[in-house]
Amino acid sequence: MKILVVEDEPEMMGLIKQFLEDENYVVEEASDFQSGLDKIISYDYDCILLDIMLPDGNGLDLLQELKNMDKADSVIIISAKDSLNDKIKGLDLGADDYLAKPFHIAELNSRIKSVIRRKKSDGFRLLKLENVSINIEERLVQVNGQLIDLNRKEFDILVFLMTNKSRIVSKSALAENIWGDYIDQSNDFDFIYSQIKNLRKKLRNYKADVDINTVYGMGYKLSIK
Ligand code: CA
Repeated sequence: MKILVVEDEPEMMGLIKQFLEDENYVVEEASDFQSGLDKIISYDYDCILLDIMLPDGNGLDLLQELKNMDKADSVIIISAKDSLNDKIKGLDLGADDYLAKPFHIAELNSRIKSVIRRKKSDGFRLLKLENVSINIEERLVQVNGQLIDLNRKEFDILVFLMTNKSRIVSKSALAENIWGDYIDQSNDFDFIYSQIKNLRKKLRNYKADVDINTVYGMGYKLSIK
């Protein structure tokens, strides 16, 4: 799960980032309007935490840009400016939620989980395909009702493939979504290959009806046995 934090106060940014990373999210930062805009143009996020008052612009304009681009990223506005007007405007523009500063960090976490859950699994906690089911919130995977032990990256890869099950997923899309955009510079996708290999082996060991196919030169796709 990849989260963009658009926030100009370094202390607040540091706090949020540390907390979310501890919760296993991939976190990227933008400390002003322009870098936030650059990020949302170039990448997709599971959730964007958006401050309204930025040194070089307004977070609501960033939200407007996102909607103009027809992007589906979930947005939670986090604003010190606790005005009803901003809240209404933000929700009208399509923000998924609004949280006034100061907030308790645990509250932020539960809001994030709830917007991601709503979007990722159409409101269901479970992601199911054949005999494989994933509880996204608890990070548990079962095959035929049997728990299977996946590492963090294997879990994220499986969720990403399952939510894109009818598509071929490119290695760069996987790298971007699972590892974050800092990996862009790398032309070497060996690290993906080894995770896929292990994940595939585990799925087969547990006799999953779902397998991961390599589409030569393009990427990976889930197949049903
Ligand atoms: Ca601010």
